[in-house]
Amino acid sequence: MKVKEYKETKDMTYYWDLTAMKWRIETEGLKLLMEGFKEKKVLGRKCHKCGTVYVPGPTYCRKCMIDIYKIVEVSNEGTIGAFTVNLADIRGNPLDEISIVVCVKLDGSDSWLMGRLTGWDDWRKVKAGMRVKAEWSDKPKGTLSDLLNFVLIEK
Ligand SMILES: [Zn+2]
Repeated sequence: MKVKEYKETKDMTYYWDLTAMKWRIETEGLKLLMEGFKEKKVLGRKCHKCGTVYVPGPTYCRKCMIDIYKIVEVSNEGTIGAFTVNLADIRGNPLDEISIVVCVKLDGSDSWLMGRLTGWDDWRKVKAGMRVKAEWSDKPKGTLSDLLNFVLIEK
């Protein structure tokens, strides 16, 4: 499915208290992701019952509540589902360099990866539904930082 309509994009002027947020990533899913990153591949797990593909890939399906084993490679390209434009630091001081953090659904995956977005000229023109591609480190080591950025394919 190709998402091209941007009319559902909403601007939310707000600030988020990141200290209140917690992240849980299953260790096995993260290990698998890092293994793939060494070869500039994004690996996840697919549920043999419902077909859901998770990246990172847990060892159980969250919908079916069963163990899952099938390792799948998903695309390096995907679609922006949501994003945040960082205009100021945590104290509200304007940043010298604006940055954008995106949630991307890679083609073939049913879950989301977060990363920094590059390749944009005007942050006001970035929209949900735009296509992006993973940008890899020249010498990946099997760490999260191997995936440097998501780069806009279209502008
Ligand atoms: Zn399932």
